[in-house]
Amino acid sequence: MTDRFVVFTDLDGTLLDHHTYSFEPAAPAIERLRRNAVPLILTSSKTMAEIMDLRRRLNNQHPLIAENGSLLAIPENHFRTGDRTKTERVWPRLMGPGYQQIVKVLQQLREEHGFQFEGFADWDAERVVEATGLPAADAQKARERLASEPIQWRGSAESWKIFTAELERCHLRTLRGGRFDHILGAQADKAHAMQKLLEMYTEHESDVRWQTIAAGDSPNDLSMLEHASIAVVIPAASGKTLDAAKGDSTLFASDPGPVGWNAAINEILDRFQLP
Ligand SMILES: [Mg+2]
Repeated sequence: MTDRFVVFTDLDGTLLDHHTYSFEPAAPAIERLRRNAVPLILTSSKTMAEIMDLRRRLNNQHPLIAENGSLLAIPENHFRTGDRTKTERVWPRLMGPGYQQIVKVLQQLREEHGFQFEGFADWDAERVVEATGLPAADAQKARERLASEPIQWRGSAESWKIFTAELERCHLRTLRGGRFDHILGAQADKAHAMQKLLEMYTEHESDVRWQTIAAGDSPNDLSMLEHASIAVVIPAASGKTLDAAKGDSTLFASDPGPVGWNAAINEILDRFQLP
């Protein structure tokens, strides 16, 4: 048995600078992971279309996790032949109900209960640009949803309680984000998708003992950090750092975003004497 690492990383505020969206300061550690054949799995609340853009710029050819763990995307042939050809094609694999199903449930609940909310499914391209603050081309990619729906809640706190209970009854859950509340499958989260992907790596290379490194800065990263062999806690740009369990297997980066990411990943690779 040989030990090998696979890295799962959040994007906004973790690998990407919270303000500039740059990953440049992380380039040395990214290159070092590549040199050691350590898969780098982009793991985000973003859609597959949005992540594919960044994946191209990073020259990354690994699977990815999108929409807060609602879907895994596996490059063509990745686990089939071991031939990691430079393909642009990835196959999405849903980890819960699909987008149409989620939107249908939301519309039914709104009709039955008169819940006050609006979501991407209610909006045209222009309105999504307005609500997200994204440039038009990026907002278009954010609209290419496969397994979760961002909404803005306009109702009361009491009504929210009834809404979440109704969602639960329909095997859905809510996840609070910066601008939106995300509606996704009850079982879908980043940690679950990480476990699923790890099973695929183990099945593909059964003589390897895969160790996971997970990096994140927000509450929606916490379960992923808790399930990883080594957790990298990136201080949040807002100043409120995640309350993760302390111990030998948790690294608290000293700087936010890609600067802290770079230092922490290098420290781990040093610790395991990887060149
Ligand atoms: Mg983040």
